[in-house]
Amino acid sequence: MSAEQPLWSGQKEGRFFTRIDVTTMLNGAMLALPLHVITGRSPGPTFGIITNTHGDEFLATIAIRQFVNALDMTTLKGRIALVSVANPMATAHFGRQTPEQHGRTDLHEVYPGNARGNTTQMIAAAITENVLHHVDALIDFHSGGSGGRLQARVDYNSKTPDELKRGNLALARAFGAPFVHENEFPGAAAHYLNGRGIPAVNPEVGGSYLGPGHTRYYTGMMADGLSGMMRHLGMLDGAVKPPKQLHFDLGARREIRPRQSGYLVSHFERPDDLGRLVRGGAELGEVIDIYSYRVLEKLVAPADGYLFFSRYSGMVGGGTQAFALAEAARSNWLD
Ligand SMILES: [Zn+2]
Repeated sequence: MSAEQPLWSGQKEGRFFTRIDVTTMLNGAMLALPLHVITGRSPGPTFGIITNTHGDEFLATIAIRQFVNALDMTTLKGRIALVSVANPMATAHFGRQTPEQHGRTDLHEVYPGNARGNTTQMIAAAITENVLHHVDALIDFHSGGSGGRLQARVDYNSKTPDELKRGNLALARAFGAPFVHENEFPGAAAHYLNGRGIPAVNPEVGGSYLGPGHTRYYTGMMADGLSGMMRHLGMLDGAVKPPKQLHFDLGARREIRPRQSGYLVSHFERPDDLGRLVRGGAELGEVIDIYSYRVLEKLVAPADGYLFFSRYSGMVGGGTQAFALAEAARSNWLD
């Protein structure tokens, strides 16, 4: 299935944009994926970036746009191959997944895809053939979707051979986010590439409609993160010194999900609330019934832990992740 030559073969220094046709949609339009290729003056690795895998997670692509627009081709080594909206069908209805009638509608779970499968699988197959098979490292950049989420971490798969595990962790740490999370996503683009021995991780930063101050804070973190990763890969000049970061695995992850739907009053609505040590039993928020005005539920920390996921006050459905902690006793600091 791998294309012999990528679409950008022969591309010289500069910026190139094209669209990759996937299939025709019922409205008669072509479903096409945007591909940006930014090639530096000097040779170097090819860094793949895909984002908007989930259609309502748009903050990352705005930060990436600012970052790549500011890049200086004369100092860039190698190239970036960027899919700025990986799932246009999901984005078109501002939803997380592809709106189609049958299963396998989460693009984050269907790699390497199938050119004769459903639309979601066709999208994955087009990205696999045109991008994944031609990169030396990759990030699949996620952000909080609709719902005012706050987060700042990089997820990586540790169930890989030691050398690749070190490569994944180093790439994740170079982003400089306060958290690094061992988190496995079978069927994700990064997971598929890890299976081919290529380092690939998933940053998960910020959210949608956060207000101007928090939007600036997170887009700044994203740009710094991209710069750190590219210095780590040798594509930009400069050393990388990751900050002190909290490392935790799935066993340390404690999610707090309300059992009932309602208006969440969140007590942790600021980016610098993330990373705070919260004591077990502390109240994180409460859920109010907007019909009867009763308090339906108090949400409390299940153990001492570092808050790594929070959200603004707003409507939440029963079972939605409202907060998440890295359990202190099972997490460790990386210097
Ligand atoms: Zn996502």
